[in-house]
Amino acid sequence: MPTGGRGKRRLGVMGGTFDPIHHGHLVAASEVAALFHLDEVVFVPTGQPWQKSDTTVSAAEDRYLMTVIATASNPQFSVSRIDIDRGGATYTIDTLRDLRSLNSDSDLFFITGADALSQILTWRDAEELFSLAHFIGVTRPGHDLTDDGLPKGGVSLVEIPALAISSTDCRARVAQGDPVWYLVPDGVVRYIDKRQLYRGE
Ligand code: ATP
Ligand code: MG
Repeated sequence: MPTGGRGKRRLGVMGGTFDPIHHGHLVAASEVAALFHLDEVVFVPTGQPWQKSDTTVSAAEDRYLMTVIATASNPQFSVSRIDIDRGGATYTIDTLRDLRSLNSDSDLFFITGADALSQILTWRDAEELFSLAHFIGVTRPGHDLTDDGLPKGGVSLVEIPALAISSTDCRARVAQGDPVWYLVPDGVVRYIDKRQLYRGE
């Protein structure tokens, strides 16, 4: 889908475990979409994430469906199954290679919170990542946002409204019987309840 005279289509990529997706993820994607004039943001739930392989992550289908529920009403947001369907551990390099070949008409903008950005140099094929996408680091409460050590020109840093929400905290709240209303979209609250997610933690 070409854009109205602005040249190449601009596709944002929001990778995450989304266990569950929460308003911190959604605000990050929405803010970056506006600031960087993105045509679309695709949310990409991970397969079994390598950083978290020693902990239990909810079934991919549950994480995928919660991501669809949370994004469905926004015409600029979509969800991709590529990492889930590839199988095995997810490496961002594979996500970006696959999205490049599926979207040869687009420039890619990979959105990441301050905590994840500071880990990028430990990711597989770190140098190549920056040739596949422009990286956009967003502020996250409790984490310093810095591009130290990252390639000049490969990363932009942006301040977004601070939402001190994490999936870890949402899971702990559900396990304790505390509410997650207004931390995650209403439909995600209902889905967690329907599927009895996070009860035994
Ligand atoms: P967990 O606690 O399970 O690690 P999380 O809340 O960190 O979950 P992830 O799925 O790990 O969520 O994060 C996906 C992406 O969203 C990462 O780049 C992360 O930095 C970013 N992100 C998550 N929460 C926020 C937030 N509240 N503000 C800004 N960025 C966020
Ligand atoms: Mg995280």
